[in-house]
Amino acid sequence: MDGKRKVLVIDTSAFISGFDPSAVNEEAYSVSRVGDELLEGSIMKMRFNASIESGRLKLINPSVKCIDIAKEASREVGDIGSLSEADIEVLALAVQLKDRGYEAVVLTDDYSMQNVAEKLELNFTPLANLGIRYHLSWIYYCPACGRKYPPDQKITLCENCGMQLKRKPVKKLPVRKRGVSSPALEEREETKKPNAPGGR
Ligand SMILES: [Zn+2]
Repeated sequence: MDGKRKVLVIDTSAFISGFDPSAVNEEAYSVSRVGDELLEGSIMKMRFNASIESGRLKLINPSVKCIDIAKEASREVGDIGSLSEADIEVLALAVQLKDRGYEAVVLTDDYSMQNVAEKLELNFTPLANLGIRYHLSWIYYCPACGRKYPPDQKITLCENCGMQLKRKPVKKLPVRKRGVSSPALEEREETKKPNAPGGR
């Protein structure tokens, strides 16, 4: 073995921010619940499904033991209320992969995820650090069930429970640096959004 193999563990916020598994060299892992959180018919959902079909993204359901570890850590740092089951499972999967000897890096733009990842002594990184550009600075989420919705969706009520969606910032980093190992994202659907903040 030549050192630990680096793998990425992708959460919902990363997909919503535009992460594409085929744009990086590292192996990418996620959980099926993340797919459930992506809006049907959205670019993100299509990308998620296409990545699974092409083998660039692998889905693993983490063990109950690892889910318990992730939940416990979320409780301890006080972030469990802002994390969905999918989020918890992503963290659990990272713990599991780390236990198996991988260098697991949680790819997330969500502050609560980052807090808990830190508590679990997991490596994590926001998308911007991968040299990936993105324009989206908000996500919508349901305060009741935690389900997340991409910012370009039109609904205002949660599809699960009918609650009014809330909005929260994903991360306000300007997207300047490109490069590192990944060719970054292909152009996003900018033409659809006449007032996208991309023109500077
Ligand atoms: Zn809901």
